[in-house]
Amino acid sequence: MTPDVDLFVIGGGSGGVRAARIAAGHGARVAIAEERRWGGTCVIRGCVPKKLLVYASAAAAQLADARAMGWDVTVGAHDWAALVAAKDREIARLSEAYLGNLRRAGVVIHDGRARLVDATTVEVGGQRVTADHVLVATGGTPRRLAIPGGELAITSDEAFHLPALPPRICVVGGGYIGVEFAHIFAGLGARVTLVHRGERVLPGFDPDLRAAVEDGLGRAGVAVRAGDEPRAIERAGGACRVHLRDVTVDAELVLAAIGRTPNTAGLGLAELGVALDPRGAVLVDEWSRSSVPSVHAVGDVTGRVALTPIAIREGHAFADTVFGRRPVAVAHDLIPTAVFSQPPAAAVGLAEDAARARGLDVTVFATRFRPMRHALTGRDDRTLIKLVIETGSRRVLGLHMVGDDAPEIVQAAAIAITMGATKDDLDRTLAIHPTAAEELVLLR
Ligand code: NDP
Repeated sequence: MTPDVDLFVIGGGSGGVRAARIAAGHGARVAIAEERRWGGTCVIRGCVPKKLLVYASAAAAQLADARAMGWDVTVGAHDWAALVAAKDREIARLSEAYLGNLRRAGVVIHDGRARLVDATTVEVGGQRVTADHVLVATGGTPRRLAIPGGELAITSDEAFHLPALPPRICVVGGGYIGVEFAHIFAGLGARVTLVHRGERVLPGFDPDLRAAVEDGLGRAGVAVRAGDEPRAIERAGGACRVHLRDVTVDAELVLAAIGRTPNTAGLGLAELGVALDPRGAVLVDEWSRSSVPSVHAVGDVTGRVALTPIAIREGHAFADTVFGRRPVAVAHDLIPTAVFSQPPAAAVGLAEDAARARGLDVTVFATRFRPMRHALTGRDDRTLIKLVIETGSRRVLGLHMVGDDAPEIVQAAAIAITMGATKDDLDRTLAIHPTAAEELVLLR
């Protein structure tokens, strides 16, 4: 019997939408289901609204800087509701654009929660749809604190819809989300405490980058408590009391940013024999194939790398491989990434400690300098640029930066590094003066 469609995609986020559109472009008959809003985590409750809030939060320091440069600036109170409304308008526009793109590609849309009935049948909205291939692109969901009173803490999902900005906020977790939201809230005027259990924020990043980001948090007025974690949370008047090892932190809001869990519960995967890892992630090979031949998975649900551009690349590669007769495997080894702290951090390639742990012989070139504009503002911010070079081949193994425009600069430099640039290639590149990025080609 001919199946109803060639491909059924479960999940209308970055990875699923890209796979659906590319597969349809290759001539496949495609259906897609989404149970929440079209666009998924990145567009609805992640990267995009986060970056909009970062712009608003960073404006506070820019206004102060303008004053230091001679502008007559009077700053009134910040209107949180106006910011959230403006952010929501943009998110609604983007969500509509995602849906419109799917429709134009001829993809059949299902608004509702889908679940696998067998290896080639999906049930959605009381209807059963058969498909040659099923792509699971259901993303992840924030983990919650498993401590007494943990339910009093919100997650990033809710952080985008607060009715007002609370005066005191305790952020738990020193990863991407904890660092980004600590800055957002502090810039907008909240008193923020960031509690993280590691020695430094941003586990997995280069040690100097981590130290520089932690410096930046301190300069932004965030009270950082390292090497500690909450034991319990209780209500105390109108606020929450967070019990740490030896002290308590009172805050109107507690945000748990302690990682994300792959969204596989209730999809029918385990029942089908799809192999999952202990966290519930779909185990896939380099072609995004699960242990059941008709079922593939891309994006956060696979637990590989939880970043939007990776999900998009995996979705595209899947569609090219299965429907475009062009096998494409996604390399996960040289991934540029940014943390939108203030100033932001960005990196591509190996951290110094990771390179040494691999037994590589490395030479490090690094500089920390005061950005030129702060000669006028008086701010004591420092920019970090660090290169990790393989000593013998002179190849650039890693670039790590903290400072204004770091994500923009590292994205451009990542092209050269992906092409295999050496320190000599950087050295013979002419500088643009005066810029911060020129340090990349002037480091000696
Ligand atoms: P991360 O994995 O980045 O960080 C989690 C943090 O929480 C770590 O500091 C971790 O510490 C800590 N932690 C974990 N469990 C507990 C616990 N039970 N109690 C206290 N602390 C705990 O997760 P995030 O939630 O910040 O972000 C999820 C993912 O989303 C990121 O990893 C990233 O892939 C993606 N993301 C990307 C962004 C970007 O590209 N700019 C922005 C936001 C998210 P420890 O190291 O000790 O386990």
